[in-house]
Amino acid sequence: MSRLAGKVALVTGGSRGIGAAIALRLAEEGADVALTYVSAADRAKEVVAAVEAAGRRGLAIQADSADPAAVVRSVEEAAGAFGRLDILVNNAGIFPYGPVEDVTLAEIDRTLAVHVRAVFLATQAAVPHMGDGGRVISIGSCWATRVPVPNVTLYAMSKSALIGFTKGLAHDLAPRGITANIVDPGPTVTDMNPEGTDEAEEERLRTAAKVLGAGADTAQAVAFLAGPDARWITGTSLAVDGGYTA
Ligand code: NDP
Repeated sequence: MSRLAGKVALVTGGSRGIGAAIALRLAEEGADVALTYVSAADRAKEVVAAVEAAGRRGLAIQADSADPAAVVRSVEEAAGAFGRLDILVNNAGIFPYGPVEDVTLAEIDRTLAVHVRAVFLATQAAVPHMGDGGRVISIGSCWATRVPVPNVTLYAMSKSALIGFTKGLAHDLAPRGITANIVDPGPTVTDMNPEGTDEAEEERLRTAAKVLGAGADTAQAVAFLAGPDARWITGTSLAVDGGYTA
């Protein structure tokens, strides 16, 4: 399939997990793909190699999403290397966990920096490089509108911020032919959410399907929203969660 032929994508946090699956899927559909990572340089190189094996250009950029200057630099580097930018996938994420009274100021600052400020800044930097058909896709969470478990207050707060951001953005960008949407994964097997733990089993049972997701499940939804068939979809969220929020 080549519905993204000629497009250029930037995926933040593309070295592992859901972001790596997204990078690969976009490449398989014809896009050149730049990705950021913070520490896993070897994993990032492997994803770039997979993108190149799919016949597309790949680029790994070290950029800590908590660092505002690095976020803006990564967007400029991607757009500069490939000459344009069509698809921004705000995926980089962390998982602060614990009762609300134990959450530290440093955790609050870092989580909001990575999940909220970086998304805003990357989008702000990317949009001037986008033309008609541009796409801003942010990876939210099944814990953005419903939070059926304790200890994720900070995480849920940070992910729910994407909803207001994306709805506002849809209005700002629609006149330029650019859409803004969220994909909300349910429990997906990655380093952040490894299989075989009591928590993963509990999450599996909370899905309607009684199945944990794979990065590829989220990636196919991102590829759809990135493509031409989704031109009239903007300002909304797509749950990819096996019925977790049903
Ligand atoms: P992983 O922990 O498997 O991968 C996280 C990715 O984000 C890595 O590429 C990592 O880079 C990158 N990253 C983390 N912090 C930073 C940072 N400060 N700057 C730049 N990159 C960073 O997570 P998942 O793949 O599971 O999660 C991806 C997204 O999906 C996140 O936004 C997460 O909140 C969301 N999500 C995940 C769910 C799940 O069940 N897995 C469910 C719902 C939402 P590096 O490799 O260099 O560390």
